[in-house]
Amino acid sequence: MYSCGMCRREFTQQRLLALHMRTHTDLRPFACGVCGMRFGRSDALTVHTRSHTGERPYPCDICQQMFMTSGSARRHMRTHSPVECRGPGSTEIPEIAKLS
Ligand SMILES: [Zn+2]
Ligand SMILES: [Zn+2]
Ligand SMILES: [Zn+2]
Repeated sequence: MYSCGMCRREFTQQRLLALHMRTHTDLRPFACGVCGMRFGRSDALTVHTRSHTGERPYPCDICQQMFMTSGSARRHMRTHSPVECRGPGSTEIPEIAKLS
């Protein structure tokens, strides 16, 4: 028996295994069960699957808005500017602006 190193499927002929391996050659062995889109990493598939389920497990610490990925939550949190962190009504110029 020839077994596929990626999905453990077994084949009676090496030729059949070689044929099967083509399904893995794009290095995206993880397929979405809903739309069939393929991914190279299981975590990428997990994130993608959330676009079908609408699951948003990453909250913004500041406004509690929910996000699908930790990356988008982090990106969003940058929109809460440093000025806002100083508290409302602050007119202080940030250090970086003074240096430039
Ligand atoms: Zn396989
Ligand atoms: Zn999908
Ligand atoms: Zn927020």
